[in-house]
Amino acid sequence: MSSYVLVINAGSSSLKYSLVDAESGDAAAAGVVERIGEAEGSHRHRGPRGETRSTLVIASHEEALQAAIEAFAVQGPALDEIELVAVGHRVVHGGSAFAEPTLVDDELLAKVAELVPLAPLHNPANLTGMRVARRLFPQLPQVAVFDTAFHQTLPPQAYTYAVPREWATEHGIRRYGFHGTSHAFVSGEAARMLGRSEVNLVVLHLGNGCSATAVRGGRSVDTSMGMTPLEGLVMGTRSGDLDPAIHAHLSRELGWPLDKIDHALNFDSGLKGLAGYNDFRELSRSRAAGDERAQLAFDVFCYRIKKYVGAYYAALGTVDAIVFTAGVGENDPAARAASLAGLERLGIRVDPALNAASSDRPRAISTDASPVAVLVIPTNEEWQIARETVSAIRSRPPRV
Ligand code: AMP
Repeated sequence: MSSYVLVINAGSSSLKYSLVDAESGDAAAAGVVERIGEAEGSHRHRGPRGETRSTLVIASHEEALQAAIEAFAVQGPALDEIELVAVGHRVVHGGSAFAEPTLVDDELLAKVAELVPLAPLHNPANLTGMRVARRLFPQLPQVAVFDTAFHQTLPPQAYTYAVPREWATEHGIRRYGFHGTSHAFVSGEAARMLGRSEVNLVVLHLGNGCSATAVRGGRSVDTSMGMTPLEGLVMGTRSGDLDPAIHAHLSRELGWPLDKIDHALNFDSGLKGLAGYNDFRELSRSRAAGDERAQLAFDVFCYRIKKYVGAYYAALGTVDAIVFTAGVGENDPAARAASLAGLERLGIRVDPALNAASSDRPRAISTDASPVAVLVIPTNEEWQIARETVSAIRSRPPRV
């Protein structure tokens, strides 16, 4: 029997949703409402009866979710005719408070609100999404699935920054890590592919945002994103790692306020800052046409990945597989090859033909002789959220 979960990902001016069968992962319908609160918004919905696109004024997230409910009624599947068991929400920052998917109640909303200073770009929108969905689906359980939760297994030496102790105890300054839902999903798939439950992996989520995770026995033991998603790998528009003294230098030299520096490192840096493109396909086209800036951006991107692979190999001691996922990781053979080039002595051998073959299926791209498997596994965060949502509502205490 199907158990459908309505998965909601609320951004500051957008609302993405999909109706996912938690057992099979099939998405019966999905859509996105964009430019909420602006003069003209848009809504796309794909359902069993086709796809619709409309432009309309959408004043609030509540109106956005109402538009989604109407689209389900018109394009299918009608929500009152299916086994809709819960609403699952993607929530970016769960701090140290949430290691598991958790039922949404007043207490959870208050705790997520307390975490807003750690994720000012994301948590307010996630809170709005949960409040609105509770109003529109009062009869359904709602579950928050946190991007940080998978990384709550990090040991202290991996999550502690070497700064005055009270920064951590009083202000929550520590590594939390993000993309946890994706890292959890592909780690599970990798274990299945390797036929073992206890696997050691280096998972590389390379999309517009990028992160690397060291997984020991299926649990996250280190990850490249930090207190915020800015740290670690080079990304579409984020710098990743850099000397923290650069903030002070820029503020002294240019007189820039810290918010402006923070914004530039989050939105004008990474591939975009180096080459002008945050989209990897455009970067690749430019690189192929001989653009030296695009080549340097590609080199910096792949070199940073290689350094993390080496660091996490050392942290783990033994590695069963390197796993690529997300837009670039799943689709760009050149980035995969360059990121792992020269690591044969670590037992990492990519088969050029397998790497070059395009596919949307989970697959191995290492040679038969490679001691470390190299896998490409499409991520499916919506399915992971749906599964975790169902597991949270099944494990809740019975009502008395
Ligand atoms: P994501 O955040 O997972 O949606 O990934 C977005 C990134 O993946 C963008 O930089 C896209 O250019 C890149 N991407 C998507 N499809 C491809 C592809 N077929 N080849 C190379 N890069 C791709």
